[in-house]
Amino acid sequence: IKTIGILTSGGDAPGMNAAIRAVTRSAIFSGFSVKGIYRGYRGLITNEIVDFKTQNVSNIIQMGGTILKTARCKEFQTPEGRQLAYDTLRQHGIDALVVIGGDGSLTGARIFATEFNFPIIGLPGTIDNDLYGTDKTIGYDTALNTIMECVDKIRDTATSHERLFFIEVMGRDAGFLALNGAIASGAEAAIIPEISTEVDQLAELIQNGFRKSKNSSIVLVAESPVTGGAMALAERVKNEYPGYDVRVSILGHLQRGGSPTASDRILASRLGAAAIDALLDDQRNVMIGISNDNIVYVPFSKAIKNDKPINRELLDTLRRLSI
Ligand code: ADP
Repeated sequence: IKTIGILTSGGDAPGMNAAIRAVTRSAIFSGFSVKGIYRGYRGLITNEIVDFKTQNVSNIIQMGGTILKTARCKEFQTPEGRQLAYDTLRQHGIDALVVIGGDGSLTGARIFATEFNFPIIGLPGTIDNDLYGTDKTIGYDTALNTIMECVDKIRDTATSHERLFFIEVMGRDAGFLALNGAIASGAEAAIIPEISTEVDQLAELIQNGFRKSKNSSIVLVAESPVTGGAMALAERVKNEYPGYDVRVSILGHLQRGGSPTASDRILASRLGAAAIDALLDDQRNVMIGISNDNIVYVPFSKAIKNDKPINRELLDTLRRLSI
């Protein structure tokens, strides 16, 4: 391997730039050439590729978003599209790829890697924290902190008006942001997809004497179709429990922006450097993860489309602290 291509794909996440910087610098440190591919897999089809030197990644560790831009690319889901992508890689002499993205992006990477026997290393870049085999994903900690700050602000007005707020947070099919965001902001409850099939979380909430002695309440809701989202839950409460003054706030895309926290910058830097170690170590088709503060290689087959369990102790803690 002489030349490594790097791209960001799918939903963006704070810390992707820190990862781009780490991959680029450690690749150059080890004697590789680096090429930056713009707009994810689309850039491989439209040929948007530039040489990356150490200066290309100067002054970006603190920036949210991704300097390489990101995109969703339908064409890459077809064999014809992937053939075009492969031709472009050959044309630029790129012989390995580092892909930073979420479940979808790593699924694409896995298919491509198998189809063309092409070495790819994945980095978990998503605020949702929904990739199996890593304790944290790049962007998760920043999004969690953003959620905490937003909920703090909503609590002020919720308390003044004695309202019940349902706050919808991102997470796709995972409740990590909702559950940990609820604990961090002192919310009364979190409605998450992982336990939706076990109990009616809303009914349980009300039955447990929810809001008995409180003049405001905050419930974080994971955006998943399984929970139905904050809007639907609020409607249910309005119908079934008309005594509550219910409001909804959907935090939306602000959760994806902002300067990455120290924790995300350090995670991205470590994983980025480890991606190059993995290539030097002849690894391929693995995602770099962090487990108990150690770098781990997680085969794509394990990392993707594999439900990562939530920690039950967190649920229990939230329940106990919200009385
Ligand atoms: P994320 O990486 O944040 O989960 P997406 O699910 O939108 O984001 O996936 C990003 C891109 O990855 C898609 O636009 C597509 O180009 C590629 N991709 C996703 N799934 C596949 C697939 N099954 N086959 C090929 N490419 C895929």
